[in-house]
This record gives sequence, C-alpha cells and structure tokens, in this order.
Amino acid sequence: MARRQATRADPLTSEQRRLNMSRIRARDTGPEMVIRRGLHALGLRYRLHDRRLPGTPDLVFPGARAIVFVNGCFWHGHECSLGVTPRSNAAFWSEKIARTQARDREAFQKLESEGWRLAVVWECALRGPVRRPVESVLDDLATFLCSDAERGRLDISGE
Ligand SMILES: [Zn+2]
Repeated sequence: MARRQATRADPLTSEQRRLNMSRIRARDTGPEMVIRRGLHALGLRYRLHDRRLPGTPDLVFPGARAIVFVNGCFWHGHECSLGVTPRSNAAFWSEKIARTQARDREAFQKLESEGWRLAVVWECALRGPVRRPVESVLDDLATFLCSDAERGRLDISGE
C-alpha cells in the first residue's frame, strides 16, 4: 500500500521522464559541453562566458592568456556543410549572419590587441559528416593552450 502511494506521487509520467532525459542528453552532448568536459578531464581549468571581455568568450584560460570560442557553423557563417544559408528568407539570414561575423571579427581584433591567443572550435569539428575524433580535437586544443607562444590563432574545423 505504501509503495503504491509512492508510485502515484511520482509527478512525471514515463513519457514525460523519457522526454526530459532526451533533452538533458541533447544539451549535455552539445559541442561546447564536449569541449568543456574534455579539457576539464585533461586537468585544464577555465572561466566560462566572461562578459568583461569582448565577445563574451566561451572559455577563458587566464594563465595561458588564451581563449576558446566554440562556434555554431550556421550562426557564425562557417563555410562548410553545416553553415549553409536556408533558401527561404535568404536575405534575412545572410544579413543576420553577416552581423554576427562582423561582431566576431571586432571581438577577435580587440582580444588579440589585448594580448590574448584565440582558438575557435567549429561545430563541424565535432558534429556532422566531416567531424573529427573528439580526442584529436582535444589534443590540438590542449597543445595550443599549453604552448608558451605569445601569439597565434588556432582554427579547428571538420576535415
Ligand atoms: Zn563548420
């Protein structure tokens, strides 16, 4: 009897629970989370989404004077299979994407002039038909972050 009441008190149906789980999984496996988890597992520590810096960088490594952006190919106008502008409302989208690209360029210039090294990980490096093995993406990033070079930019796309 007690057990049956406990079951009835469960506010989620199995359908709702399944839906919630699928949402959580989808969010947790997004490219940014893959990079965050991977670098953390390699022992690298960072600040997230620092609004004090131009472009609100996704990951900031103050000791290494390095910054990592994880960019969606569509929104940031990457020239790859994930970055294709839709046919309908093409003018609207290309204008919107062009504005994002202009903001990116401005933020990158400011950051570099302040002495930051920049790495951009494009979504297509981790998702879609040309994605690379996660380990190799993390390896390239870690090498960049641990380098003692004062300048340099790293761009990681799908192959
Ligand atoms: Zn791309």
